[in-house]
Amino acid sequence: LSSSLPLTGPRVLALANQKGGVGKTTTAINLGTALAAIGERVLIVDLDPQGNASTGLGIDRRARNRSTYHVLVGDLTLSEAVQETSVPRLSIAPSTMDLSGVEIEISTEKDRAYRLRQAIRGLGGDYSYVLIDCPPSLNLLTINAMAAANAILVPLQCEFFALEGLSQLIKTVEQVKTNFNPGLTIHGIVLTMYDARNNLSAQVVDDVRQFMGDKVYQTIIPRNVRVSEAPSYGKPVLLYDLKCVGSQAYLRLASEIIQREKHLRAA
Ligand code: ADP
Ligand code: MG
Repeated sequence: LSSSLPLTGPRVLALANQKGGVGKTTTAINLGTALAAIGERVLIVDLDPQGNASTGLGIDRRARNRSTYHVLVGDLTLSEAVQETSVPRLSIAPSTMDLSGVEIEISTEKDRAYRLRQAIRGLGGDYSYVLIDCPPSLNLLTINAMAAANAILVPLQCEFFALEGLSQLIKTVEQVKTNFNPGLTIHGIVLTMYDARNNLSAQVVDDVRQFMGDKVYQTIIPRNVRVSEAPSYGKPVLLYDLKCVGSQAYLRLASEIIQREKHLRAA
């Protein structure tokens, strides 16, 4: 198996953090929507058996008979699992609980870590971004995501233990680089659920910037009730309430990421 990723095709970003509840799925949905709103063609790959990205984008459970599970076990191509969403230019390959059994089903296959990479290579459709929503663990699903990705995007919640999990994640990224994907980088760290009324939030921002420098995006996602309400309507927050501070922050994050991409490509 060749280890280098192709230079053409979409930019593949994996949203990863082994901690649950830090904003991976929320960021996949809303960054995806914001990128699409700016004119990019975006595919979200739901790689979490919980399927929260699929639900949050309004994909009914009954409409998930073609899912990322079927792609990883080799029954479908990725294109065959893709569905349109209510957001123009935003598509999703949904997931179901079946995905939690994939690790065992393909554990003896030689290419088990490269299933998603191969699937993305065969993807048509002119996408400029593929965002992979990872489960909250460092299992074979996350390894598949990191092996397929150009870069990792790390959502980090502004809370006391934020930095602890980050060192573990960085270690894993190093291991994946060595074993599966030498070109892998950390695209950036996005601080989430920032609470301006809480001194701790500001302290965490300082600490993470000290530790990770300019890997931390300028944009910070505030804690915003509109962001947490939107998924229950099966909508990204940008469709639910475009003017709220959460939507505006995700639009800024999207333009920051596009800027960073321009610099990377020019380099
Ligand atoms: P993960 O995918 O990392 O497990 P989620 O994106 O599902 O995390 O977020 C965890 C919870 O926090 C969800 O209930 C989500 O609605 C909520 N949440 C995420 N980001 C925000 C935010 N900026 N403001 C308010 N609630 C948020
Ligand atoms: Mg999630």
